Amino acid sequence: MLEIRNLRKYFPIKGGIFQRKAINFVKAVDNVSFSVKKGETLALVGESGCGKTTLGRTILRLIEPTSGSIFFNTPSEILREIDALTEKVRRNSATKDEVERLNKLNLTYNIALRDEKGLKNLRKEMQIVFQDPLSSLDPRMTIRETLSEPLKIHEHLRKEEIEDRVLELLKSVGLKEEHMHRYPHEFSGGQRQRICILRAISLKPKFMVLDEPTSALDVSVQAQILNLLKRLQREFNLTYLFITHDLSVVRFMSTRVAVMYLGKIVEMAPTEELFNNPLHPCTRSLLEAVPIPEPTTRRKKLIIEGDVPSPVNPPSGCRFHTRCPYATEACSKEEPPLIEVSPEHLVACPLADKLKKS
Ligand code: SF4
Repeated sequence: MLEIRNLRKYFPIKGGIFQRKAINFVKAVDNVSFSVKKGETLALVGESGCGKTTLGRTILRLIEPTSGSIFFNTPSEILREIDALTEKVRRNSATKDEVERLNKLNLTYNIALRDEKGLKNLRKEMQIVFQDPLSSLDPRMTIRETLSEPLKIHEHLRKEEIEDRVLELLKSVGLKEEHMHRYPHEFSGGQRQRICILRAISLKPKFMVLDEPTSALDVSVQAQILNLLKRLQREFNLTYLFITHDLSVVRFMSTRVAVMYLGKIVEMAPTEELFNNPLHPCTRSLLEAVPIPEPTTRRKKLIIEGDVPSPVNPPSGCRFHTRCPYATEACSKEEPPLIEVSPEHLVACPLADKLKKS
């Protein structure tokens, strides 16, 4: 459903006399590639500030990408053709017609190159649920107005039809007709997040970015929201990109997990495989930081020391080498690519196999 190729998002740091010149860049997302399959939930995990939210928002073009490609629902034969032509262009062996064909395909299918009009159609299909429900709802709009707005813009329905759809949506998550005329501050955190989810699904999207949708909620409400998201996924055949730093919900929600560190994906695997057999030291430290609900049980922890380096000047070679207990001299020289160590299990560390045995 979604193919991300070499996506980058650099934020400029302005300097100079008029603060107009970019003197450096914060490399929030740096050369990230992955795919999301139809109907699955891909969890994106990592420490705070590793670029998860920026990646989610860049995919939806809420933030403009610096470079790279985003393909959504693109037929596989078109993707293969784009890959073949891109490779030819890279090797300087493409003819003029082939270059033209590649440009045409990119303009048609690559979301990163779409104009405003092209993006409007896409908004129906790709939606987002933000972390803080209160700040993502307009405090001056009633819930009826909030839920009607996307229907007015995209579906061009009559007033009575919109009213019926809003009521139907509210009832589907246990809210009542009287709630339609209330403002966001009159709801609890869990109800507000349910309204945000309704706003996202009101246009029957195919793909949703869930940006830490439960981290601002109480534990009991978190469970309700996660169950609601699972139910909606089954009913509407939705595909999720689930961004979180809470590994305890990852196992419940996701089919596959991608681990990010300082703007890069360092490990990617099916959920059970990642939890049972984490290979990258960064993943292992994240998993071992999750508390065990058994006070007498002790486990050997992989201690990661030091702070996360600045994304303005990330370390050379493997970005994790400044904190990795297994780092060798070679780690600071060459950036390890993501390699497949077993079916669907990708790791960006040449020592992964050795670590597996240890
Ligand atoms: Fe650690 Fe080196 Fe592997 Fe990076 S490449 S995770 S520094 S062992």
